[in-house]
Amino acid sequence: MCADRVSTAVRSRIMASIRGKDTKPELVIRSILHKRGLRFRLHRRDLPGKPDLVFPKHRAVLFVHGCFWHGHNCHLFSMPRSRRDFWQQKITRNCERDLEQRQTLIESGWRVATVWECALMGRSRLHVAEIGEYCAAWLKSEVAELDVRGREAEPL
Ligand SMILES: [Zn+2]
Repeated sequence: MCADRVSTAVRSRIMASIRGKDTKPELVIRSILHKRGLRFRLHRRDLPGKPDLVFPKHRAVLFVHGCFWHGHNCHLFSMPRSRRDFWQQKITRNCERDLEQRQTLIESGWRVATVWECALMGRSRLHVAEIGEYCAAWLKSEVAELDVRGREAEPL
């Protein structure tokens, strides 16, 4: 019961925050990277998936993914009990689209980072310095993909 109540609260918050472009987790990551002197552009519409941050110099993009909408296997995600089929389909579609967009970007020579909400918010969040370090090291590298998730996030 308790877990359900918590996840419902978390979900309402995520749903409320998804409406605006500047969702809080995205502001957090922007601030972390900006403080490290990394420069980026926002929401480039000409790229697949309209990445939240684009680092032209590093030929890299970064997505900040909400764990509910993007079906992350972490503690912030639980399938709603009502209209289960609807949500199942919607979230499955979102995951498929994420994968397609990532592949298209990589095929066009972009590198793709995904920073999950659970790395930025709540009890599983990482220290901001740690996230900054991961992203900065990855940007300087030639590694194609980076995935930053929360510390306590456990597979379902
Ligand atoms: Zn997550």
